[in-house]
Amino acid sequence: MRYISTRGGIQPIGFKDAVMMGLATDGGLLLPESYPQISRSQLDGWRSLSYAELSWQIISRFVDDIPGDVLKELIDRSYATFKHPEVTPVVRQDGVYILELFHGVTLAFKDVALQLLGNLFEHILAERGQHLNIVGATSGDTGSAAIHGVRGKKGITIFILHPHGKTSPVQALQMVTVTDANVHNIAIRGTFDDCQNMVKALFNDLEFKKKHSLGAVNSINWARVLAQVVYYFYAWLRVTDSGDQPVSFSVPTGNFGDIFAGYVAKRMGLPMGKLLLATNENNILTRFVNGGDYSLTDVVATVSPSMDIQLASNFERYLFHLYNQDPKRVQLAFAELKETGRIAFSAAEMEQVQTDFCSASVDQAATLETIGSFHKETGYLLDPHSAVGVRAALDLFSVDTARICLATAHPAKFGDAVEKAVGAPAPVPESIAALTGMETRCSVMDADLEQVRKFVVAHAA
Ligand SMILES: *Cc1c(COP(=O)(O)O)cnc(C)c1O
Repeated sequence: MRYISTRGGIQPIGFKDAVMMGLATDGGLLLPESYPQISRSQLDGWRSLSYAELSWQIISRFVDDIPGDVLKELIDRSYATFKHPEVTPVVRQDGVYILELFHGVTLAFKDVALQLLGNLFEHILAERGQHLNIVGATSGDTGSAAIHGVRGKKGITIFILHPHGKTSPVQALQMVTVTDANVHNIAIRGTFDDCQNMVKALFNDLEFKKKHSLGAVNSINWARVLAQVVYYFYAWLRVTDSGDQPVSFSVPTGNFGDIFAGYVAKRMGLPMGKLLLATNENNILTRFVNGGDYSLTDVVATVSPSMDIQLASNFERYLFHLYNQDPKRVQLAFAELKETGRIAFSAAEMEQVQTDFCSASVDQAATLETIGSFHKETGYLLDPHSAVGVRAALDLFSVDTARICLATAHPAKFGDAVEKAVGAPAPVPESIAALTGMETRCSVMDADLEQVRKFVVAHAA
């Protein structure tokens, strides 16, 4: 399988190069040249597979430059870290299915992708005799999942900047209690934007970037999307038998990575209805799907902070397909966005969009109300991100379809919102309780680029 860029500016490359490249060098995103097709009989033959076995079946179809047994070992090791034997179990509550994606080490769905990415990095770097210095900024979830994905791994050093005192206490503890020698937490006296701007400045200094082999782990890495394709298949296999039940997925969306993985599953032949793209008040993608209005506005802070995003980085991958794989059209669209703050779509394009997706925006009041009412009906606690998807599914999907709602975080991770919704704190899992009192390591700094740069130089391998 070869990988190409949505902007058309690179020669096709293999999977390992795609993983190491992250963002394509022409500024585009990497995609496979084609999608492997899975027949219905093949699908039915996968019903008895474990999560890791299914993962290998799917992922190996996209990888032809890592030997099968080696890839299998990397996958097995990645999913052995999950606390649930099914890795991503599906539970039925109040007429909907909840696909629980939060049984990884940091209790959010990003572990599914970042555990595998960490192992892929380690394998490829060892083979090439290289070292990678990962630098990233986080407002919470991605940073902690990335740190846990690479802690203790050979050939990798990671620097994660977070705004001092501005992440949730659980998120901060999940980062600073990782004391492995290759992990450097940097708490910045400033905002998340300060952190992100300093990381961008380091990456824009191309000489610095090359000299210190800087790399990123943001959600545009193809391997992250690929790892997430698996749980759509896994959930489908759990809620169907050999009949023809209609199945639909509802996906709480921020950077469009998770829902794009669902789109890939569909293109591979997984039978499903329209993908439901659920947003909070940051609803540019809902305005796009429902009315063709793709225009940027300011980011609003909500109770589902991991979805407080305007410019969804993975959206470009979908645009590439909407434009029939024409990189020129993608370039023009982004030039238009830069110039006017919006992208305009034709009637024919919107018809295609509305065949692929439906969408709803769920505001904070409705999110909290849903956590409360769902808990009252079922005793089951949703986190605010998952609640956005559940509310949208209850509103938009018909009851005669198997409605699968992706649950992207454990409720205890966003305890304040949950407590507000149900009037009592979410039970704290043992893994979170155990963080209090653990040894911590973190360097606190001002939002001063030179200070951060010096720190990275001093600690980079
Ligand atoms: C990252 C995240 C999302 C959004 O996923 P995208 O792939 O960015 O669309 C939703 N919920 C939680 C808890 C997250 O951490």
